[in-house]
Amino acid sequence: MDLNLTAEEQQFRDELRAWLATHTPRNWEHRRDEPAEAHFAFLCQWQRTLYEGGWAGISWPGEYGGRGASLMQQVLFWQEMALAGAPPMANILGLGLVGPTIIAFGTEAQKTRYLRKILSAEEIWCQGFSEPNAGSDLASLQTEARRDGDHYVVNGQKVWTSYGWAADWCELVVRTDPAAPKHKGLTVLLVDMRSPGVEVRPLRQMTGETEFNEVFFRDVRVPIENRVGNENQGWDVAIGTLMHERGTFGAALQITYKRSIDRLIELSRTVQRNGRPAADDPVIRQKLAQCYAEVEIMRANQMRAFSRISETGVPGPEGSIQKIWWSELNQRMQQIAQELLGPYGQLEGLDPRAVDHGAWSYGYLRARGNTIEAGTSEVQRNIIGHFVLGLPRSY
Ligand SMILES: Cc1cc2nc3c(=O)[nH]c(=O)nc-3n(C[C@H](O)[C@H](O)[C@H](O)COP(=O)(O)OP(=O)(O)OC[C@H]3O[C@@H](n4cnc5c(N)ncnc54)[C@H](O)[C@@H]3O)c2cc1C
Repeated sequence: MDLNLTAEEQQFRDELRAWLATHTPRNWEHRRDEPAEAHFAFLCQWQRTLYEGGWAGISWPGEYGGRGASLMQQVLFWQEMALAGAPPMANILGLGLVGPTIIAFGTEAQKTRYLRKILSAEEIWCQGFSEPNAGSDLASLQTEARRDGDHYVVNGQKVWTSYGWAADWCELVVRTDPAAPKHKGLTVLLVDMRSPGVEVRPLRQMTGETEFNEVFFRDVRVPIENRVGNENQGWDVAIGTLMHERGTFGAALQITYKRSIDRLIELSRTVQRNGRPAADDPVIRQKLAQCYAEVEIMRANQMRAFSRISETGVPGPEGSIQKIWWSELNQRMQQIAQELLGPYGQLEGLDPRAVDHGAWSYGYLRARGNTIEAGTSEVQRNIIGHFVLGLPRSY
Protein backbone atom coordinates (compact mmCIF):
# COMPACT_ATOMS: atom_id res chain seq x y z
CA MET A 1 0.00 0.00 0.00
CA ASP A 2 1.41 3.37 -1.06
CA LEU A 3 0.74 5.91 1.70
CA ASN A 4 1.87 8.91 -0.35
CA LEU A 5 -0.95 11.07 -1.67
CA THR A 6 -1.40 11.40 -5.42
CA ALA A 7 -1.68 14.90 -6.90
CA GLU A 8 -5.45 14.43 -7.14
CA GLU A 9 -5.69 13.38 -3.50
CA GLN A 10 -3.59 16.34 -2.40
CA GLN A 11 -5.85 18.69 -4.32
CA PHE A 12 -8.91 17.08 -2.73
CA ARG A 13 -7.39 17.43 0.74
CA ASP A 14 -6.41 21.06 0.24
CA GLU A 15 -9.83 22.00 -1.14
CA LEU A 16 -11.58 20.27 1.76
CA ARG A 17 -9.25 21.80 4.34
CA ALA A 18 -9.99 25.29 3.02
CA TRP A 19 -13.73 24.61 3.00
CA LEU A 20 -13.71 23.26 6.57
CA ALA A 21 -11.70 26.27 7.77
CA THR A 22 -14.58 28.57 6.83
CA HIS A 23 -17.61 26.33 7.48
CA THR A 24 -16.87 24.27 10.63
CA PRO A 25 -19.03 25.42 13.59
CA ARG A 26 -16.99 26.66 16.54
CA ASN A 27 -17.44 25.81 20.23
CA TRP A 28 -20.17 23.34 19.38
CA GLU A 29 -19.34 20.79 22.09
CA HIS A 30 -21.22 22.58 24.85
CA ARG A 31 -24.37 21.98 22.80
CA ARG A 32 -24.48 18.46 24.21
CA ASP A 33 -26.11 20.11 27.23
CA GLU A 34 -29.07 21.09 25.06
CA PRO A 35 -32.18 18.87 24.88
CA ALA A 36 -31.54 15.84 22.64
CA GLU A 37 -33.86 17.10 19.88
CA ALA A 38 -32.12 20.47 19.67
CA HIS A 39 -28.66 18.86 19.60
CA PHE A 40 -29.75 16.40 16.94
CA ALA A 41 -31.25 19.23 14.84
CA PHE A 42 -27.87 21.01 15.02
CA LEU A 43 -26.06 17.86 13.78
CA CYS A 44 -28.63 17.48 10.96
CA GLN A 45 -28.03 21.07 9.90
CA TRP A 46 -24.26 20.48 9.90
CA GLN A 47 -24.67 17.40 7.73
CA ARG A 48 -26.89 19.38 5.36
CA THR A 49 -24.19 22.06 5.09
CA LEU A 50 -21.65 19.36 4.23
CA TYR A 51 -24.02 17.86 1.66
CA GLU A 52 -24.72 21.19 0.01
CA GLY A 53 -20.98 21.87 -0.11
CA GLY A 54 -20.50 18.52 -1.93
CA TRP A 55 -18.85 16.83 1.03
CA ALA A 56 -21.29 14.07 2.00
CA GLY A 57 -20.97 10.55 0.56
CA ILE A 58 -17.44 11.08 -0.74
CA SER A 59 -17.18 7.58 -2.24
CA TRP A 60 -20.89 7.16 -3.08
CA PRO A 61 -21.88 7.25 -6.76
CA GLY A 62 -22.39 10.75 -8.16
CA GLU A 63 -25.81 9.92 -9.65
CA TYR A 64 -27.19 9.39 -6.13
CA GLY A 65 -25.80 12.58 -4.62
CA GLY A 66 -22.32 11.34 -3.67
CA ARG A 67 -19.02 12.70 -4.88
CA GLY A 68 -18.01 9.56 -6.79
CA ALA A 69 -14.49 9.83 -5.35
CA SER A 70 -12.17 7.06 -4.16
CA LEU A 71 -12.16 5.34 -0.79
CA MET A 72 -8.80 6.98 -0.12
CA GLN A 73 -10.50 10.34 -0.47
CA GLN A 74 -13.16 9.10 1.94
CA VAL A 75 -10.36 8.37 4.45
CA LEU A 76 -8.89 11.83 3.86
CA PHE A 77 -12.32 13.31 4.49
CA TRP A 78 -12.51 11.76 7.98
CA GLN A 79 -8.95 12.81 8.75
CA GLU A 80 -9.60 16.40 7.76
CA MET A 81 -12.85 16.48 9.76
CA ALA A 82 -10.83 15.33 12.78
CA LEU A 83 -8.14 17.94 12.24
CA ALA A 84 -10.75 20.69 11.89
CA GLY A 85 -12.50 19.62 15.12
CA ALA A 86 -15.77 19.28 13.17
CA PRO A 87 -18.97 17.89 14.70
CA PRO A 88 -20.04 14.38 13.62
CA MET A 89 -22.81 13.97 11.07
CA ALA A 90 -26.31 13.21 12.34
CA ASN A 91 -27.34 10.34 10.06
CA ILE A 92 -24.59 8.06 11.24
CA LEU A 93 -26.44 4.77 10.64
CA GLY A 94 -27.77 5.89 7.27
CA LEU A 95 -24.30 6.92 6.10
CA GLY A 96 -22.33 4.06 7.62
CA LEU A 97 -24.69 1.11 7.23
CA VAL A 98 -27.94 1.56 5.36
CA GLY A 99 -26.58 3.56 2.41
CA PRO A 100 -23.74 1.09 1.65
CA THR A 101 -26.26 -1.78 1.96
CA ILE A 102 -28.66 -0.18 -0.51
CA ILE A 103 -25.76 0.58 -2.89
CA ALA A 104 -24.67 -3.09 -2.73
CA PHE A 105 -28.02 -4.92 -2.68
CA GLY A 106 -30.80 -2.39 -3.49
CA THR A 107 -32.82 -1.96 -6.67
CA GLU A 108 -32.33 1.04 -8.93
CA ALA A 109 -35.61 2.48 -7.61
CA GLN A 110 -34.42 2.12 -4.01
CA LYS A 111 -31.10 3.81 -4.76
CA THR A 112 -32.89 6.72 -6.42
CA ARG A 113 -35.51 7.00 -3.68
CA TYR A 114 -33.33 6.76 -0.54
CA LEU A 115 -29.65 7.57 -1.02
CA ARG A 116 -29.77 11.30 -1.64
CA LYS A 117 -31.97 11.88 1.42
CA ILE A 118 -29.57 9.89 3.59
CA LEU A 119 -26.74 12.17 2.53
CA SER A 120 -28.69 15.39 3.10
CA ALA A 121 -30.01 14.14 6.50
CA GLU A 122 -33.54 14.80 5.25
CA GLU A 123 -34.37 11.23 6.29
CA ILE A 124 -32.76 9.71 9.37
CA TRP A 125 -32.26 5.95 9.59
CA CYS A 126 -32.06 3.36 12.33
CA GLN A 127 -31.05 -0.30 12.34
CA GLY A 128 -33.65 -2.84 13.53
CA PHE A 129 -31.59 -5.99 14.02
CA SER A 130 -31.33 -6.93 17.74
CA GLU A 131 -34.23 -8.39 19.70
CA PRO A 132 -34.65 -9.31 23.37
CA ASN A 133 -33.54 -12.89 22.58
CA ALA A 134 -31.39 -12.29 19.52
CA GLY A 135 -28.22 -10.20 19.85
CA SER A 136 -24.97 -12.06 19.25
CA ASP A 137 -27.03 -14.88 17.78
CA LEU A 138 -28.86 -12.55 15.43
CA ALA A 139 -30.20 -15.37 13.25
CA SER A 140 -32.50 -16.43 16.13
CA LEU A 141 -34.63 -13.33 15.66
CA GLN A 142 -38.40 -13.78 15.85
CA THR A 143 -39.97 -10.63 14.39
CA GLU A 144 -42.05 -12.04 11.56
CA ALA A 145 -43.36 -10.77 8.25
CA ARG A 146 -46.03 -12.61 6.29
CA ARG A 147 -47.08 -11.83 2.75
CA ASP A 148 -50.49 -10.25 2.20
CA GLY A 149 -50.92 -9.34 -1.48
CA ASP A 150 -48.35 -6.74 -2.42
CA HIS A 151 -47.40 -6.05 1.21
CA TYR A 152 -45.62 -7.72 4.10
CA VAL A 153 -47.34 -7.55 7.48
CA VAL A 154 -44.78 -7.23 10.29
CA ASN A 155 -45.26 -8.23 13.94
CA GLY A 156 -42.62 -8.36 16.67
CA GLN A 157 -40.19 -6.36 18.76
CA LYS A 158 -36.70 -4.93 18.31
CA VAL A 159 -34.49 -3.52 21.06
CA TRP A 160 -31.39 -1.29 21.44
CA THR A 161 -32.47 0.54 18.27
CA SER A 162 -30.12 3.53 18.26
CA TYR A 163 -31.76 6.83 17.22
CA GLY A 164 -35.11 5.03 16.86
CA TRP A 165 -36.75 8.11 18.38
CA ALA A 166 -35.32 10.35 15.64
CA ALA A 167 -35.57 7.94 12.72
CA ASP A 168 -37.80 8.29 9.68
CA TRP A 169 -36.81 4.87 8.32
CA CYS A 170 -35.53 1.55 9.64
CA GLU A 171 -33.49 -1.23 8.02
CA LEU A 172 -35.39 -4.14 9.56
CA VAL A 173 -34.49 -7.84 9.54
CA VAL A 174 -37.54 -10.11 9.78
CA ARG A 175 -38.34 -13.82 9.60
CA THR A 176 -40.32 -14.68 6.49
CA ASP A 177 -40.02 -18.49 6.61
CA PRO A 178 -40.37 -19.84 10.15
CA ALA A 179 -39.96 -23.44 8.89
CA ALA A 180 -36.55 -22.86 7.25
CA PRO A 181 -33.20 -23.24 9.11
CA LYS A 182 -32.68 -20.04 11.10
CA HIS A 183 -30.20 -18.35 8.71
CA LYS A 184 -32.32 -19.17 5.66
CA GLY A 185 -35.73 -17.71 6.48
CA LEU A 186 -34.76 -14.05 6.94
CA THR A 187 -35.55 -10.99 4.81
CA VAL A 188 -34.50 -7.32 4.99
CA LEU A 189 -37.18 -4.63 4.69
CA LEU A 190 -37.02 -0.83 4.61
CA VAL A 191 -39.75 0.32 6.98
CA ASP A 192 -41.27 3.77 7.28
CA MET A 193 -41.14 4.51 11.03
CA ARG A 194 -44.34 6.55 10.71
CA SER A 195 -46.36 3.57 9.49
CA PRO A 196 -49.43 2.73 11.60
CA GLY A 197 -48.51 0.05 14.16
CA VAL A 198 -44.91 1.22 14.82
CA GLU A 199 -44.34 2.21 18.44
CA VAL A 200 -41.01 3.56 19.72
CA ARG A 201 -40.27 3.49 23.45
CA PRO A 202 -37.00 5.20 24.43
CA LEU A 203 -34.70 3.41 26.89
CA ARG A 204 -32.78 5.58 29.34
CA GLN A 205 -29.06 4.70 29.53
CA MET A 206 -26.66 5.24 32.40
CA THR A 207 -25.41 8.37 30.58
CA GLY A 208 -28.88 9.83 31.11
CA GLU A 209 -29.55 9.84 27.35
CA THR A 210 -32.15 7.87 25.48
CA GLU A 211 -30.00 7.06 22.45
CA PHE A 212 -31.59 3.68 22.00
CA ASN A 213 -35.09 2.37 22.08
CA GLU A 214 -37.47 -0.53 22.04
CA VAL A 215 -39.49 -0.64 18.81
CA PHE A 216 -42.73 -2.59 18.57
CA PHE A 217 -44.38 -3.61 15.30
CA ARG A 218 -48.07 -4.51 15.31
CA ASP A 219 -49.55 -5.45 11.93
CA VAL A 220 -47.29 -2.95 10.18
CA ARG A 221 -47.81 -3.03 6.41
CA VAL A 222 -44.65 -2.71 4.31
CA PRO A 223 -44.85 -2.61 0.49
CA ILE A 224 -43.02 -5.44 -1.28
CA GLU A 225 -40.90 -2.95 -3.21
CA ASN A 226 -39.27 -2.05 0.14
CA ARG A 227 -37.59 -5.46 0.32
CA VAL A 228 -33.78 -5.41 -0.11
CA GLY A 229 -32.54 -8.50 -1.95
CA ASN A 230 -34.60 -11.64 -2.33
CA GLU A 231 -37.12 -13.03 0.13
CA ASN A 232 -35.47 -15.44 2.61
CA GLN A 233 -32.00 -14.32 1.54
CA GLY A 234 -31.83 -11.50 4.07
CA TRP A 235 -28.95 -13.08 6.01
CA ASP A 236 -26.48 -12.14 3.26
CA VAL A 237 -27.83 -8.58 3.18
CA ALA A 238 -27.70 -8.29 7.00
CA ILE A 239 -24.15 -9.62 7.12
CA GLY A 240 -23.21 -7.09 4.42
CA THR A 241 -24.56 -4.34 6.70
CA LEU A 242 -22.67 -5.70 9.72
CA MET A 243 -19.41 -5.94 7.75
CA HIS A 244 -19.80 -2.27 6.85
CA GLU A 245 -20.57 -1.47 10.48
CA ARG A 246 -17.38 -3.18 11.62
CA GLY A 247 -15.11 -2.39 8.68
CA THR A 248 -15.89 1.22 7.91
CA PHE A 249 -17.63 2.65 10.96
CA GLY A 250 -14.32 3.21 12.73
CA ALA A 251 -13.42 5.78 10.10
CA ALA A 252 -15.99 8.22 11.46
CA LEU A 253 -14.71 7.58 14.97
CA GLN A 254 -11.27 8.84 14.04
CA ILE A 255 -12.72 12.31 14.46
CA THR A 256 -13.74 11.61 18.02
CA TYR A 257 -10.62 9.73 19.06
CA LYS A 258 -8.14 12.16 17.62
CA ARG A 259 -9.93 14.87 19.54
CA SER A 260 -10.01 12.73 22.69
CA ILE A 261 -6.26 12.12 22.73
CA ASP A 262 -5.53 15.80 22.01
CA ARG A 263 -7.82 16.80 24.88
CA LEU A 264 -6.28 14.21 27.20
CA ILE A 265 -2.84 15.65 26.54
CA GLU A 266 -4.15 19.16 27.18
CA LEU A 267 -5.85 17.95 30.35
CA SER A 268 -2.61 16.42 31.62
CA ARG A 269 -1.02 19.88 31.40
CA THR A 270 -3.77 21.59 33.36
CA VAL A 271 -4.61 19.16 36.18
CA GLN A 272 -2.21 18.68 39.09
CA ARG A 273 -0.78 15.47 40.44
CA ASN A 274 1.42 15.57 43.56
CA GLY A 275 1.67 19.37 43.27
CA ARG A 276 2.87 19.35 39.66
CA PRO A 277 1.14 19.18 36.27
CA ALA A 278 0.07 15.58 35.65
CA ALA A 279 2.02 15.74 32.37
CA ASP A 280 5.22 15.62 34.49
CA ASP A 281 4.21 12.27 35.98
CA PRO A 282 6.19 9.51 34.17
CA VAL A 283 3.36 6.97 34.47
CA ILE A 284 0.81 9.37 32.96
CA ARG A 285 3.25 10.25 30.17
CA GLN A 286 3.68 6.57 29.35
CA LYS A 287 -0.05 6.04 29.18
CA LEU A 288 -0.67 9.10 27.00
CA ALA A 289 2.11 8.20 24.58
CA GLN A 290 0.73 4.66 24.34
CA CYS A 291 -2.76 5.94 23.53
CA TYR A 292 -1.39 8.42 20.98
CA ALA A 293 0.37 5.54 19.21
CA GLU A 294 -2.81 3.47 19.36
CA VAL A 295 -4.88 6.23 17.74
CA GLU A 296 -2.32 6.35 14.93
CA ILE A 297 -2.51 2.55 14.59
CA MET A 298 -6.28 2.86 14.31
CA ARG A 299 -5.81 5.30 11.43
CA ALA A 300 -3.38 2.96 9.66
CA ASN A 301 -5.67 -0.03 10.18
CA GLN A 302 -8.56 1.92 8.75
CA MET A 303 -6.55 2.65 5.63
CA ARG A 304 -5.76 -1.05 5.34
CA ALA A 305 -9.47 -1.90 5.65
CA PHE A 306 -10.36 0.67 2.98
CA SER A 307 -7.57 -0.60 0.76
CA ARG A 308 -9.13 -4.06 0.91
CA ILE A 309 -12.59 -2.68 0.13
CA SER A 310 -11.21 -0.86 -2.93
CA GLU A 311 -9.77 -4.15 -4.16
CA THR A 312 -12.70 -6.47 -3.41
CA GLY A 313 -15.70 -4.13 -3.22
CA VAL A 314 -16.73 -5.44 0.24
CA PRO A 315 -15.31 -5.15 3.75
CA GLY A 316 -13.63 -8.34 4.97
CA PRO A 317 -13.65 -10.10 8.35
CA GLU A 318 -10.59 -7.96 9.19
CA GLY A 319 -13.17 -5.30 10.07
CA SER A 320 -13.55 -7.24 13.32
CA ILE A 321 -9.94 -6.34 14.19
CA GLN A 322 -10.76 -2.68 13.77
CA LYS A 323 -13.96 -3.03 15.81
CA ILE A 324 -12.11 -4.55 18.79
CA TRP A 325 -9.37 -1.95 18.45
CA TRP A 326 -11.52 1.19 18.46
CA SER A 327 -13.90 0.01 21.15
CA GLU A 328 -11.26 -1.11 23.64
CA LEU A 329 -9.00 1.87 22.88
CA ASN A 330 -11.81 4.28 23.72
CA GLN A 331 -12.38 2.54 27.04
CA ARG A 332 -8.65 2.88 27.84
CA MET A 333 -8.64 6.60 26.97
CA GLN A 334 -11.72 7.24 29.08
CA GLN A 335 -10.13 5.39 31.99
CA ILE A 336 -7.03 7.61 31.81
CA ALA A 337 -9.23 10.71 31.85
CA GLN A 338 -10.86 9.48 35.05
CA GLU A 339 -7.42 8.82 36.59
CA LEU A 340 -6.35 12.38 35.70
CA LEU A 341 -9.49 14.05 36.99
CA GLY A 342 -10.14 12.00 40.11
CA PRO A 343 -13.54 12.86 41.65
CA TYR A 344 -13.97 15.81 39.23
CA GLY A 345 -14.29 13.25 36.47
CA GLN A 346 -17.77 12.50 37.75
CA LEU A 347 -19.06 16.06 37.34
CA GLU A 348 -21.55 16.70 34.59
CA GLY A 349 -23.08 19.70 32.89
CA LEU A 350 -22.00 23.28 33.12
CA ASP A 351 -20.28 23.17 36.50
CA PRO A 352 -17.11 25.25 35.91
CA ARG A 353 -14.98 22.52 37.52
CA ALA A 354 -16.46 19.93 35.15
CA VAL A 355 -13.67 20.03 32.59
CA ASP A 356 -15.07 20.03 29.03
CA HIS A 357 -18.63 20.44 30.31
CA GLY A 358 -18.72 16.98 31.78
CA ALA A 359 -17.71 15.35 28.49
CA TRP A 360 -15.35 12.97 30.31
CA SER A 361 -18.03 11.77 32.69
CA TYR A 362 -20.33 11.19 29.72
CA GLY A 363 -17.55 9.60 27.64
CA TYR A 364 -16.59 7.15 30.36
CA LEU A 365 -20.15 5.92 30.79
CA ARG A 366 -20.92 5.78 27.04
CA ALA A 367 -17.71 3.88 26.27
CA ARG A 368 -18.94 0.83 28.20
CA GLY A 369 -21.35 0.13 25.33
CA ASN A 370 -18.57 0.24 22.70
CA THR A 371 -17.51 -3.35 23.30
CA ILE A 372 -21.15 -4.50 22.97
CA GLU A 373 -22.58 -2.50 20.04
CA ALA A 374 -21.96 -3.75 16.48
CA GLY A 375 -21.14 -7.18 17.97
CA THR A 376 -19.37 -7.81 21.27
CA SER A 377 -15.59 -8.18 21.59
CA GLU A 378 -16.06 -11.92 22.24
CA VAL A 379 -18.03 -12.30 19.02
CA GLN A 380 -15.41 -10.32 17.05
CA ARG A 381 -12.68 -12.60 18.41
CA ASN A 382 -14.72 -15.63 17.33
CA ILE A 383 -14.98 -14.13 13.83
CA ILE A 384 -11.23 -13.46 13.67
CA GLY A 385 -10.50 -16.96 15.02
CA HIS A 386 -12.63 -18.63 12.39
CA PHE A 387 -12.49 -16.46 9.28
CA VAL A 388 -9.02 -14.91 9.58
CA LEU A 389 -7.03 -17.56 11.46
CA GLY A 390 -8.91 -20.60 10.14
CA LEU A 391 -9.62 -22.01 13.61
CA PRO A 392 -12.66 -24.26 14.17
CA ARG A 393 -16.04 -22.53 14.60
CA SER A 394 -16.95 -21.44 18.12
CA TYR A 395 -20.41 -23.07 17.95
C1 LIG B 1 -24.67 1.39 22.51
C2 LIG B 1 -25.38 0.30 21.77
C3 LIG B 1 -26.05 0.60 20.60
C4 LIG B 1 -26.73 -0.42 19.92
N1 LIG B 1 -27.42 -0.07 18.76
C5 LIG B 1 -28.10 -1.03 18.12
C6 LIG B 1 -28.89 -0.69 16.96
O1 LIG B 1 -28.96 0.47 16.53
N2 LIG B 1 -29.58 -1.67 16.35
C7 LIG B 1 -29.54 -2.96 16.77
O2 LIG B 1 -30.18 -3.80 16.15
N3 LIG B 1 -28.83 -3.33 17.87
C8 LIG B 1 -28.12 -2.39 18.56
N4 LIG B 1 -27.40 -2.72 19.67
C9 LIG B 1 -27.47 -4.11 20.18
C10 LIG B 1 -26.17 -4.90 20.00
O3 LIG B 1 -25.99 -5.24 18.66
C11 LIG B 1 -26.29 -6.15 20.90
O4 LIG B 1 -26.33 -5.69 22.25
C12 LIG B 1 -25.11 -7.06 20.72
O5 LIG B 1 -25.16 -7.69 19.47
C13 LIG B 1 -25.05 -8.16 21.83
O6 LIG B 1 -26.27 -8.80 21.94
P1 LIG B 1 -26.99 -8.97 23.36
O7 LIG B 1 -27.05 -7.64 24.02
O8 LIG B 1 -28.28 -9.68 23.12
O9 LIG B 1 -26.01 -9.88 24.24
P2 LIG B 1 -25.87 -11.48 24.17
O10 LIG B 1 -25.80 -11.89 22.74
O11 LIG B 1 -26.95 -12.06 25.00
O12 LIG B 1 -24.46 -11.70 24.84
C14 LIG B 1 -24.28 -11.71 26.26
C15 LIG B 1 -22.82 -12.03 26.55
O13 LIG B 1 -22.49 -13.33 26.04
C16 LIG B 1 -21.35 -13.26 25.16
N5 LIG B 1 -21.52 -14.21 24.05
C17 LIG B 1 -22.63 -14.43 23.32
N6 LIG B 1 -22.38 -15.37 22.37
C18 LIG B 1 -21.10 -15.73 22.50
C19 LIG B 1 -20.25 -16.66 21.82
N7 LIG B 1 -20.70 -17.40 20.78
N8 LIG B 1 -18.96 -16.79 22.22
C20 LIG B 1 -18.47 -16.04 23.27
N9 LIG B 1 -19.24 -15.15 23.98
C21 LIG B 1 -20.52 -15.01 23.60
C22 LIG B 1 -21.37 -11.84 24.64
O14 LIG B 1 -20.06 -11.44 24.23
C23 LIG B 1 -21.85 -11.06 25.86
O15 LIG B 1 -20.77 -10.80 26.73
C24 LIG B 1 -26.72 -1.74 20.39
C25 LIG B 1 -26.03 -2.04 21.57
C26 LIG B 1 -25.39 -1.05 22.27
C27 LIG B 1 -24.67 -1.38 23.55
